[in-house]
Amino acid sequence: MHEMSIVSGVLRIAEDQARAADATIINSIELEIGELAGIELDSLNFCFEVARRKTMAQDAELVIHSIPGKGFCPHCEKDVAVGFQMGVCSECDQAILEIFQGRELRVLSINVD
Ligand SMILES: [Zn+2]
Repeated sequence: MHEMSIVSGVLRIAEDQARAADATIINSIELEIGELAGIELDSLNFCFEVARRKTMAQDAELVIHSIPGKGFCPHCEKDVAVGFQMGVCSECDQAILEIFQGRELRVLSINVD
């Protein structure tokens, strides 16, 4: 399950930041995740519940901002929403070669005390 390795990575970043700020408690972690990043949010939340135990983030809130997939469709000749079916235009169902949004995985902010 690669969600677990994502969560471990995020917790490591959060704890590093907390230590750097002389904090002992992580209140919240805010993530930005693209809909095309291949990450199951249910699974990510579940992994977070498990992995945060006995870390500084054990009571932290995980806030996830979902970023919709977007690409340029050469058939429609405009920017369109890209569906969950990777790389297919939501308007004409043709393949999209250029996806410029929706694969993000970023830690937006970490709130510590
Ligand atoms: Zn199209």
